[in-house]
Amino acid sequence: MMLLRLGDRAPGVADARAALAHLSFLPAAPRQPVEDDAAMGQGETELFDADLDRAVRAFQQSRGLSVDGIIGPDTARALDEARHRLGDRLLYNVPGHPFVGDDVAALQERLSNMGFDVGRTDGIFGPRTEAAVRDFQRNRGLEPDGRCGPHTLRELKRLERTVTGGRPDMLRESVRLLVRGPSLLGMLVAIDAGHGGEDTGVVAHRLTESEIMADLAGRLEARLLSSGLETFRVRADDEAPDEAERARRANERGADLLISLHADASVSPKAEGVSCYYFGNARGSSAVGERLAGLIQKELVSRTDMVDCWTHAKTWELLRRTTMAAVRVEVGYLTNEHDAAALASAEYRATVAESILAAIQRLYLPPEQDPPTGQLRVPRVATRS
Ligand SMILES: [Zn+2]
Repeated sequence: MMLLRLGDRAPGVADARAALAHLSFLPAAPRQPVEDDAAMGQGETELFDADLDRAVRAFQQSRGLSVDGIIGPDTARALDEARHRLGDRLLYNVPGHPFVGDDVAALQERLSNMGFDVGRTDGIFGPRTEAAVRDFQRNRGLEPDGRCGPHTLRELKRLERTVTGGRPDMLRESVRLLVRGPSLLGMLVAIDAGHGGEDTGVVAHRLTESEIMADLAGRLEARLLSSGLETFRVRADDEAPDEAERARRANERGADLLISLHADASVSPKAEGVSCYYFGNARGSSAVGERLAGLIQKELVSRTDMVDCWTHAKTWELLRRTTMAAVRVEVGYLTNEHDAAALASAEYRATVAESILAAIQRLYLPPEQDPPTGQLRVPRVATRS
């Protein structure tokens, strides 16, 4: 799709403005035409002005997207999903082409607050949401067809006033973690080596992101395998499936965790450091994803001289559509001289792999057994008892 940004004149600008006004990020009043816009026909080539830029950034911030003021695929998708209000359309499970939107998220949130298991509040109407709707319908004496139409909505609204709650969906991942216990044996880690094939990712300082990540993924895989874990690649080195497809593959294989490996780029050669990302938005975040991101970040920063750029909640498709805890690790800026030198070295890559393994081990240790950051040495071969 076409990217829209400040200064552009394009047909999509008017749509974006209308969508953001509908969401109250812009005043609803029609804009006054500016002098040099006089020749403009029917408003289809409206200017992307500073007001719209500000509104796009505010919207991106509110949705946990990268705040760059650019309407690209992620922002366009989020704008489209935000149009839907609960009750606007009949919601049900369409395998392969699920309903996606704020209305689905609102439905999931309400069901979840009442204790029905929707999985995660991800705004995607999948089989689990359908099952939760059926449960709710059965519970309320309605026809359990799994479809959220007028009757189900009315019942939801009626009960809503009487129910307040925590966020049970965010706790379920934690339960899954407790059930597994401290053993890593047989745990399946999905690995997503950033980019591949035609898509090389960042190229700077004579280094190519896709090549470095393929190498790093191999090292991580070897470390995990030698510690008794199992691994699975969500893409081959020579292909670049989109984020939803990679998430689907990880879900299908029933991975316990997903690690996505990337290097960063910036227009400023001074930008440097490592950061980790997990699923989260204004409604809450993946508790396990957040903890794993924090552990990887701490291990990585304590074992290297890289700058700490913190962990952040994001709604990127890969993080959002994966049903297991997923973390995207940005292992440094290829556009920065210091970071590029680190990324070029085998030693740094080995340390990254070791840090991620240590973080995964710590994730599964009970708090009283959790060692200080930077101290854990995971044995080469796990003891099989
Ligand atoms: Zn990347």
